[in-house]
Amino acid sequence: MSEGLDVAVPGARGSGTPDGAPQAASSVSPVRKTATTLADGRELFYFDDGDSDQTTDRASFPDRRHLDAAAPSSSIRFDPLLDEWVTIAGHRQTRTHLPPDDECPLCPSRDGHNSEIPAPDYDVVVFENRFPSFASTSVADHDEAAADDPLFVVAPGLGRCEVVCFTADHDAAFSSLSPARARTVIEAWVDRTAELSDRPDVEQVFCFENRGEEIGVTLSHPHGQIYGYPFVTPRTRRMLESARAHRERTGRNLFADLVEHELQAGTRVVVRGDHWTAFVPFAAHWPLEVHVYPNRQVPDLPSLTDEERCELVTVYLEVLRRMERVHDGALPYIAAWHQAPARVDRDLAYLHLEVFSIRRAPGKLKYLAGSESAMGAFVNDVLPEEAARRLRDVVL
Ligand SMILES: [Zn+2]
Repeated sequence: MSEGLDVAVPGARGSGTPDGAPQAASSVSPVRKTATTLADGRELFYFDDGDSDQTTDRASFPDRRHLDAAAPSSSIRFDPLLDEWVTIAGHRQTRTHLPPDDECPLCPSRDGHNSEIPAPDYDVVVFENRFPSFASTSVADHDEAAADDPLFVVAPGLGRCEVVCFTADHDAAFSSLSPARARTVIEAWVDRTAELSDRPDVEQVFCFENRGEEIGVTLSHPHGQIYGYPFVTPRTRRMLESARAHRERTGRNLFADLVEHELQAGTRVVVRGDHWTAFVPFAAHWPLEVHVYPNRQVPDLPSLTDEERCELVTVYLEVLRRMERVHDGALPYIAAWHQAPARVDRDLAYLHLEVFSIRRAPGKLKYLAGSESAMGAFVNDVLPEEAARRLRDVVL
């Protein structure tokens, strides 16, 4: 099964201003999306660059592997002390861990090696994770002793987990992508956010990248992930509660006020664009941490205009390159898109990206030790203003 279409990605949900009013239509990216299915029934989507000259139908390359039908299952259990869900996904223990380069499952398929991507080349590709934390097939695990106990609440780990490959080049990094390719990745995020947000089993869509073995990445090929959670995540809920209290007190949006105050202070601003602002937050948790906000409140990636997506390419690539140069080279980092929940508090939320590294100096990593892991109380040994100065001083 396959279909090819030029993606119009204005966003199925939330396109427009935070109060839901429609906005002027932005121009549509010419990124081309082609859908197909893998041997075990999982969905895969090719996203080709707007300036791509490839003419072969990507979906004409079938998955030649013999895979058992994927039937992943996980549960979510409720922690009443912390008022949050924990996902129990035992089947993930068997997932691929740092395979040799010639067995990389994210490189294109070639003679003698059939990978997760059947085509012999690709620009950007998104597919359902074979070892997902959340899946539509999940059924709740059953512990006889816990049945009907109100303190032992369990539910199926419904939702969706997808993998996003940024390039077919095994040795590249997001920071080395061309602007056209970075734009294609953004369009893939937009497309997936809109589609997953419409699923009844998804309450929040999280696009993110874990980079570097030090972060626990099990595959070195440049890629990110997308989680469609069956609940609103604890951090998002906490941020929204703060934003709600701020709005009741002041009538204003907390995220918007933070951006405005950072711009006024100026000491932690790293990149200032017409549509985006990147800064080290006043109370940074990590030795190297940059937050990237659109200058206008929008709930999620599909709500960005063409101009905003365009400038995001430049600003994000610059932020990543500055962060890498601070420590001269490969940087372990996490890049996390904070988007509004799919159905609630969309007027309160404010799309933004948080990028942070656990590297505090060349050869030195910051681990989450006792205070952070056990108490949730962060100790950061780098002054945020000093981190911002170093990021600004980098010569690109
Ligand atoms: Zn690879």
